[in-house]
Amino acid sequence: MIENSYEEIIELEAKRQKENVELIASENYVSERVLKAAGSILTNKYAEGYPGKRYYGGCKYVDLIESKAIEDVCKLFNCKYANVQPHSGSSANQAVYRALINSGDTVMGMDLGAGGHLTHGHKMSFSGQDYNIVSYGIDTNGIINYEECERLLNEYNPQMLIVGASSYSRIIDYKKFRDIIEKYAVSHNGEKPYYMVDMAHVAGLVAGGVHPNPVPYADVVTSTTHKTLRGPRGGIILTNSEDIIKKINKTVFPGIQGGPLEHIIAAKGICFEEANTEDFKKYAKQVVSNAKAFANKFIEYGWKIISDGTDNHMFVLDVYNSIGITGKEVEEELDKINVTVNKNQTPNDILPPLKSSGVRIGTPAMTTKGWKEENFEKLANIIIEYLKLCKEGKQEEVQNKYKEEIQRIINNIK
Ligand code: PLP
Repeated sequence: MIENSYEEIIELEAKRQKENVELIASENYVSERVLKAAGSILTNKYAEGYPGKRYYGGCKYVDLIESKAIEDVCKLFNCKYANVQPHSGSSANQAVYRALINSGDTVMGMDLGAGGHLTHGHKMSFSGQDYNIVSYGIDTNGIINYEECERLLNEYNPQMLIVGASSYSRIIDYKKFRDIIEKYAVSHNGEKPYYMVDMAHVAGLVAGGVHPNPVPYADVVTSTTHKTLRGPRGGIILTNSEDIIKKINKTVFPGIQGGPLEHIIAAKGICFEEANTEDFKKYAKQVVSNAKAFANKFIEYGWKIISDGTDNHMFVLDVYNSIGITGKEVEEELDKINVTVNKNQTPNDILPPLKSSGVRIGTPAMTTKGWKEENFEKLANIIIEYLKLCKEGKQEEVQNKYKEEIQRIINNIK
């Protein structure tokens, strides 16, 4: 029996979020405006359908909210059409599969171990269960293997190619994938796969102009709104094709979802508005600069980072090959000094997923809190010293000292 009230538990989590250094690459802290909209009275309203075409009365204002969010996201990513109703990134991806291809069709996606997402074809997800999956990966330098992609495309003739990742620290060349597809079309009587980009991880960097925009190259782009984009938890689907948006809209509702979450759609709209500002551009730039400074510190000490660095908001630190402790152990030990990371498989990992050789480290959340390069460099020094002591089994004596040091970094920012 859990004795605390819900309110008390929320307070405890608020305290944890305040005191911890949040390095989970897919998390962020939303603004007060976003938070307020997400917790607003819009949650009371049913609005199955789309603006102007609802199955319920009283939708005058939620129509305005949803239409405005669509306008704002189209302006932000420079596209013609958008669906802002997906409840999550996974639902957005599922909608694209179901809208554009048939179950049993072949889909090419990035392997989970190489950095792809579960919904890009993993056997535990609907994608790997309902579709015939061909996975591509990265080369020995940790960079997407574009040549292998071209070869696999010609060998397996997929109906859809998915580009995008959950733990890939380099710029993705969306144009190169478009060129590969167009070359394929020339030798296949104009036939070509749908080109889907899942930009969930980098959407905020795209919005802030520090990562290329996939919209001009892909047929359809999906994203979450809660990672680098710094909005509420949710998904979106973007396209420049009228034909595709019609199919997507029918699939999102009534195909796979019921009533839209208009409170979350309002919060998404606010996040699109916020991401379309000079301040957000500065934020996106700082996220990348922080990640580079953070990663470089580990490299300086001879630790191994997949692809030897980062161009975006995150990197995967191969702790097992750097100091001989697993990603799981690092996740648990860092938690004891109030640093939150997640274990992550490395390419061709010899350890199982629940142990993993790596940890994924990201800078979006702490950059929102005002951290700069020097704060991340200090933190890297603490992590390196502490994990070395963990390896020797001497961590317990120093946990309080490191916790205090971390608190000092946090307090200095305020
Ligand atoms: N796509 C990518 C690339 C992701 O990294 C994630 C989440 O980690 C998702 C989709 C799924 O998003 P959600 O957790 O909202 O379903």
